[in-house]
Amino acid sequence: MSGSSQRETTQLAASVLSAAAFGLMSAGCGLERANGIAMGTTYSIQADCPKSLPHVRVDAELARIDALMSTYDRDSELSRFNRGATGVALPVSPELVDVVGAAFVVSEQTRGAFDATVAPLVALWGFGADAAPGAPGDKEVAQALRSVDYRRIAHNREPPTLEKLRPATLDLSGIAKGFAVDRLAGLLDDARCPAYLIEFGGEIKARASAPGGGPWRVGVESPSGPDYAKTLLLGTDALATSGDYRQYRETDGVRVSHVIDPRTGYPVRHHLASVTVVTDTAMMADAYATAMLVMGEVEARRFAGEMDLAALFIVRANGGFEMFHSQAMVPYLERG
Ligand code: FAD
Repeated sequence: MSGSSQRETTQLAASVLSAAAFGLMSAGCGLERANGIAMGTTYSIQADCPKSLPHVRVDAELARIDALMSTYDRDSELSRFNRGATGVALPVSPELVDVVGAAFVVSEQTRGAFDATVAPLVALWGFGADAAPGAPGDKEVAQALRSVDYRRIAHNREPPTLEKLRPATLDLSGIAKGFAVDRLAGLLDDARCPAYLIEFGGEIKARASAPGGGPWRVGVESPSGPDYAKTLLLGTDALATSGDYRQYRETDGVRVSHVIDPRTGYPVRHHLASVTVVTDTAMMADAYATAMLVMGEVEARRFAGEMDLAALFIVRANGGFEMFHSQAMVPYLERG
């Protein structure tokens, strides 16, 4: 179904906007709260639970996922796979196969705009655990681009193995935080918490309604100011935003984003400033938001329509910002 994306001619004054993140606006009474740091970013949980969920369980679950999927931890399962030989089917955890498999699905759907083998380019452009200094030349980009192709990786579920069919390096930073949010939601579901809101580095998972009833109100900040560009209303939904504001470098006065186009080898450089996606799982929202930021406004809006994906786009225009949303995003928009 290809829904047309509606144009909101809300002209956002440049002064109003701030880094692409969320404000949790549903401060409710009777909620348990937990905050912490993991995977180089912060998390916060608001939950209504029959018995309090030990904070230590949350941290232990995030540490467990970190040990599987971090490229910052040299001993993680993913780092060991990345260092491993080509042509060897390495036994790994089923969850690592599931995340790589989900990344592969999004790569197929987005025709390579999302590609977890982008690691050499991420490092070359100065981001991630192996960030290289300085700005690369076209030759180095072409060299690194040669080993970027998700089809170089074979993933098998029974038994769970990953194999490099040709040299490649995986970076799951565009999808694994979303996976971690889904796992934290699983902990709260197992603890029979009827309502909660989890936010972790820009990925969100909500269940049921905010205290006192009604949807969870989540403010999507805009790319350079303290206010919210839009308020979204979540029920049992997941949400993720990808933007070129939080992580970028300035080289020779040019802003270089940490989101790289695997089809060209270069950081995204277009007018699309941030993409917010609402869907069932935080893992898929995380990957789709990154993929659509890579695509740029026109291709992303077409993709969201084709996939019937709820998406909100903030685009630089005329010295300010304009917002667009896909048809599927309409139910989540707070009116007025
Ligand atoms: P997103 O838009 O969600 O993802 C962008 C990231 O995905 C980029 O940073 C890059 O790594 C990758 N990427 C870029 N382009 C593409 C593409 N086209 N397709 C696929 N992927 C792409 N950060 C730290 O500073 N210290 C840590 O110790 C640390 N540990 C981590 C452990 C884990 C398990 C994970 C998943 C991440 C960790 N990070 C760490 C990274 C950090 O948490 C964020 O994941 C990172 O900053 C990007 O998240 P984001 O939501 O800002 O960007």
